[in-house]
Amino acid sequence: MKLFLGWFYPQLMSTYGDRGNIIALSYWAKILGIDLEVCPISLNDPYEKILKMDILFMGGAQDKQQEIVSKDLKNGKSKALKKAIEAGVSGLFVCGAYQFLGRYYKAADGTKIPGLSIFDLYTENPGESFPRLIGDIGIKTKIAKDEIVVGFENHGGRTYLSNKNLAFGEVIFGFGNNGKDKTEGIFYKNTIGTYLHGPILPKNPKVTFFLLEKAIERKYKRKILVKEFDEEWEKQAREIVIRNNRDR
Ligand code: GLN
Repeated sequence: MKLFLGWFYPQLMSTYGDRGNIIALSYWAKILGIDLEVCPISLNDPYEKILKMDILFMGGAQDKQQEIVSKDLKNGKSKALKKAIEAGVSGLFVCGAYQFLGRYYKAADGTKIPGLSIFDLYTENPGESFPRLIGDIGIKTKIAKDEIVVGFENHGGRTYLSNKNLAFGEVIFGFGNNGKDKTEGIFYKNTIGTYLHGPILPKNPKVTFFLLEKAIERKYKRKILVKEFDEEWEKQAREIVIRNNRDR
């Protein structure tokens, strides 16, 4: 079984260890007997490349990089991305990348960066005089039903979903989409948009399995049953984060 993993803008969109998600996907793919080929998708690459991918990943960045990338996404890439998401390709979009999936991102200096409008959501950064939303975060998700998915968030933007039922998770501790309505991220078909850096996948193997399982299901029309693996280290890492944030 072979899967292609499209990694959007590795040089520009990869903050707070987001590259660790590629390492986690590669690690678990190997254990599951999947040959995973990582294919960078960079500035000026043809959009057709996106349509050959089984998993898509884009990490976070600061406002400046988002501006550059937003221009590159315009020429055909946004349509290809929308098509892939609608077709059920596995996708993970973190922080700045998640913000792209919405209608727009208003940066700290007021610049409006147009989004891809794949989802009915928008993000606004209220400006430098407002605190960034920084710290550990724990959420309840449909993917890892009896576990709290943990990560680390650091964003100035506040995201608002028109349909809160599409949230990826419910905030247990931390800020999530906007620090107010307890929603975190977006979850649609097999795509996850989230503020969780950390990076998210090494700490939360269930989310990693979800992306790999769905990609195999789609491409090979078969289910790989992820059995119980030894996830003791990951479990302990999550428990420490949860313990440290008990009183928030
Ligand atoms: N620039 C965005 C914000 O501050 C995204 C930050 C990030 O990707 N870590 O909201």
